[in-house]
Amino acid sequence: MQKVIIIGGGVIGLSIARQLSKGPYHISIIDRSTPRMNASYAAGGMLGAQNEFFEDTPLYRLAMQSRAMMPDLARQLYNETDIDIEFQSHGLIKIATNKQDIAKIQQQYSFLKRDDHRIHWFSNAELYSMFPHLSLESTAAFKIQDDAQINANLYTQALTRSVSTQNNIHFSPHTEVLHIAQKSEGYEVSTSKGTMYADILVIAAGAWSGKLLNNLGIFIHTHAVKGDVKLIETSFPLTQATLFNTNGCYIVPKKPNRYLIGATSEWDNWSTTNNKNNLKWLDDASQEMLPKLRHHRTVKTWTGIRPITTNEHPIMGKISDSLYVATGHYRNGILLSPIVGDLMAKAIQSDATALHKLEYFYQ
Ligand SMILES: Cc1cc2nc3c(=O)[nH]c(=O)nc-3n(C[C@H](O)[C@H](O)[C@H](O)COP(=O)(O)OP(=O)(O)OC[C@H]3O[C@@H](n4cnc5c(N)ncnc54)[C@H](O)[C@@H]3O)c2cc1C
Repeated sequence: MQKVIIIGGGVIGLSIARQLSKGPYHISIIDRSTPRMNASYAAGGMLGAQNEFFEDTPLYRLAMQSRAMMPDLARQLYNETDIDIEFQSHGLIKIATNKQDIAKIQQQYSFLKRDDHRIHWFSNAELYSMFPHLSLESTAAFKIQDDAQINANLYTQALTRSVSTQNNIHFSPHTEVLHIAQKSEGYEVSTSKGTMYADILVIAAGAWSGKLLNNLGIFIHTHAVKGDVKLIETSFPLTQATLFNTNGCYIVPKKPNRYLIGATSEWDNWSTTNNKNNLKWLDDASQEMLPKLRHHRTVKTWTGIRPITTNEHPIMGKISDSLYVATGHYRNGILLSPIVGDLMAKAIQSDATALHKLEYFYQ
């Protein structure tokens, strides 16, 4: 059996491992498991396949395919792990609260409407009944029915439990990769717990992928986009649909009367502590959408590091017969993880269709 090492136990590395375990491989996943030094546990969990796109691109098509895979995956993970990843499909309302952004969402609505007749642009009367405190002059919104959401933290836990039960996968948590070197056959991976060897190496280390690849003389730049997030609780229900403002603030309903409020975006900020001003911005921006949120109790706050590449597009695919990369999924790694896991696992098994689809993302 060929030995595969996957560096990174976030949703991307885990999804690749889960799919690859169906093939004749012995797979090791290595993750340093430092709290807050990842994205997957921190994410909002939106499956924004339509919300995030303004034009038809290969990534948009993958996002649509991936969103469609999630209900079935949620069932499989529940059967395998007893963890309910809380898939919810109450749609997403996209809101613009300034004139410049209204023009942008009008253009996005026209694009999305071509393939989805269920998308709904709100009339002034509808807007007023939902957001009576906002000025109709500078507010517009539409609803995407099919942009669902999950609990990203539980999803990452479920994937971890799922791969940990596979006979041919060994998960090494609390293990930091310190250096990687190419040898005449395969790779030598030096970790905080000793040296490991691989025939095939997969770099899926989120924002830290670029740094690891540099060890091998491959210069892909990955950056951090830090986000502050908070989870709040109210004593009454407010919205079933996700509310997503073009200013970057969103309100994602979780368990009854609990709302995940996200998220700030700070480039190349690798710190893992919450910034007070950022949390205040989350309060102000979410309460601008729903003033009743003023009466909330903060359940907890946290941060996460989104992985982004210099041109903001994911980089994924085959670097050589023995080296693969999947990183830079930025704001959409949860959404994209089912399809990325599938395509990357097939690519590693030399599936021509998967390799062809991924070519666009590794040039
Ligand atoms: C605040 C926030 C909100 C988000 N909201 C959404 C959303 O609503 N929908 C959506 O689709 N996406 C969202 N995202 C984006 C999504 O979370 C990411 O794109 C996705 O989680 C990236 O997964 P990953 O596996 O590539 O990276 P990560 O989850 O960061 O995993 C990389 C792993 O590599 C490990 N690692 C790195 N270097 C080393 C090393 N040297 N040795 C050992 N291990 C190492 C880290 O410990 C980490 O666990 C959000 C992200 C954030 C931060």
